[in-house]
Amino acid sequence: MSQRGARGALAYLRPYFANHQREYILGAGSVILYVALFAAGPPLFGWALSAVLQGLGTEVILGRVAWFVLVALASACVRFFSRTFLFNTARSIEYELRNDLFVHLQKLPQAFYFDWPTGDLMSRCVNDLNSIRLMLGVGIVNILQAPFLYLASIAVMISLNPTLTLLSLTPFPLFILLARGFGRVNHAANLAVQEGLGRLSNQVQESISGIALVKAYAMEGATQRKFESATESLYRRHVRLVRVSSAIPTMARLLPGLTMWIVLWFGGRAVQGGQMDVAEFFVFALYIHQLTFPTVIIGWVFAIVQRGTASIERIQEVLDTEPSIKSRIGASSPAAFSGEIAFQNLNFSYTGEEKSLVLKDINLDVPAGSVLGITGPVGSGKTTLVSLIPRLFKVSDGMVSLDGVDLNEWDLSDLRKNIAMVPQDPFLFSMSVADNISYGSPNSGMEEISRAASAARLMGDIDELPRRFATVVGERGVMLSGGQRQRTALARALALRRPILILDDTLSAVDSQTESAIQGELGSLYKGKTVIVVSHRVSSLKDADQIIVLIDGAISEQGVHDELAAGGGWYSRMVRAQALEDEIQLLDGAGGEVSDG
Ligand code: ADP
Repeated sequence: MSQRGARGALAYLRPYFANHQREYILGAGSVILYVALFAAGPPLFGWALSAVLQGLGTEVILGRVAWFVLVALASACVRFFSRTFLFNTARSIEYELRNDLFVHLQKLPQAFYFDWPTGDLMSRCVNDLNSIRLMLGVGIVNILQAPFLYLASIAVMISLNPTLTLLSLTPFPLFILLARGFGRVNHAANLAVQEGLGRLSNQVQESISGIALVKAYAMEGATQRKFESATESLYRRHVRLVRVSSAIPTMARLLPGLTMWIVLWFGGRAVQGGQMDVAEFFVFALYIHQLTFPTVIIGWVFAIVQRGTASIERIQEVLDTEPSIKSRIGASSPAAFSGEIAFQNLNFSYTGEEKSLVLKDINLDVPAGSVLGITGPVGSGKTTLVSLIPRLFKVSDGMVSLDGVDLNEWDLSDLRKNIAMVPQDPFLFSMSVADNISYGSPNSGMEEISRAASAARLMGDIDELPRRFATVVGERGVMLSGGQRQRTALARALALRRPILILDDTLSAVDSQTESAIQGELGSLYKGKTVIVVSHRVSSLKDADQIIVLIDGAISEQGVHDELAAGGGWYSRMVRAQALEDEIQLLDGAGGEVSDG
């Protein structure tokens, strides 16, 4: 990471540091106090030792030893306090960052999620925030402490014996370099293990959720082989990590050995020559011993800081993505609401390029309280058109308006509070049926939930579930059929009781009898409200006040059922084809009865 990058990343955290200024000042204070106590340890030991060597008597010796023990104890306590304090602050910042990130993610439009893989976003929310926490905790403590630790120790050592200080510290720059190298290798090995774990868990998750497909295509063998190769790769990565990380303690033992040799060699001669006393010699030895651990972990700390700053940049990348769809400053909403929707000269493309227009020159008025039916071939833009009403995508060419006000002028949350949309592929959360139905209206009581379920013709199915409304559905619960999922999603939309209802091919997996019963319910529930129905079924469309046929993104037919059915266009062909299908089904049914009879 470049220095500018590191500085930029830290500048990004400034508001979070500012929130915890008090904790950091106290933390820094405790680190400095720890350093002072750390540096005082060896001279106190030397002081006690010289009392022994000079035969000053038990009382004096015990008094000096007590001072040494007291300072050692105080140093341990302050060390514990400074670590707990700063590590907890790092956890608080991680918590705040994670919440801010999630708030931001929720503001980003659907289009953002098409571009960013879910796994990547999850890894940013979990792994990157962990790395930032490590940097703010362990990283900051050691970075704050290391210079003071060296300066204080070297100062005392120089005051005792400048030449020996110089000699015994000669290998330290080499240690730092070595430790840095080891830190890097260790960090890379650690990352490789993380990556391997990520790949393995992805594979397990995919194989389990796609188990039906694995079995249907008899792919167990191939899946097993893929899994084995991922496990083997993870095993190799683990072995490498163990090898690298066991080298660090080895180095931690070897290095002081080398320095100690210098101290013994030169210090011993100084003691023999009478230039240094034995106690001073021990003070030196103790300093060298004490400095070993902070020196060895410097490499690791460098790696933590490097990874942490890279993670801040990755988080920053998400946080800096401006929500392209948001309420304009000063956006307001009309006081009274009627529900008229209008599209004017609307052109739309997902990529923003003119040549890939998904909707072309749409001009359409949906009067308040009317039902609009939309049909057309797959991929003709039906879902796109209805998704523009709650502003799931940004309109930049032409206008969509609600009650005569451009959607871009509406306050976004007010706009969406007026609309209930049931998407093509309904999503159920892993929670109870009741909670799934009241998802958008958490204050709904059981009575409202049952009413919505009954309007969506779901009560019969719920009665058969083991714990009725309390049955957990979705990934970790009972699996519902396609039609049941669609009707649960419909009940969820109905429980919202919003003035505009959009059904995007919602009843495609529901049989025609249930469908017509639901239509009856909707007719009375939504009388006088605006309803938009996207469907391929004539039965769902025929009673609409207005039907449009979208072909290749443009309106190719528009009118009521009778007009379009007689018009000789796409709609009339669909009507004929479905009438033929119905006849064949009837004949099949009759044939079945004859043979059964
Ligand atoms: P329909 O609902 O009529 O089946 P859609 O509105 O889903 O049609 O899709 C219309 C066209 O837009 C299709 O060509 C489809 O591939 C494309 N499309 C749909 N969603 C996206 C998207 N998120 N990004 C890019 N293209 C899309």
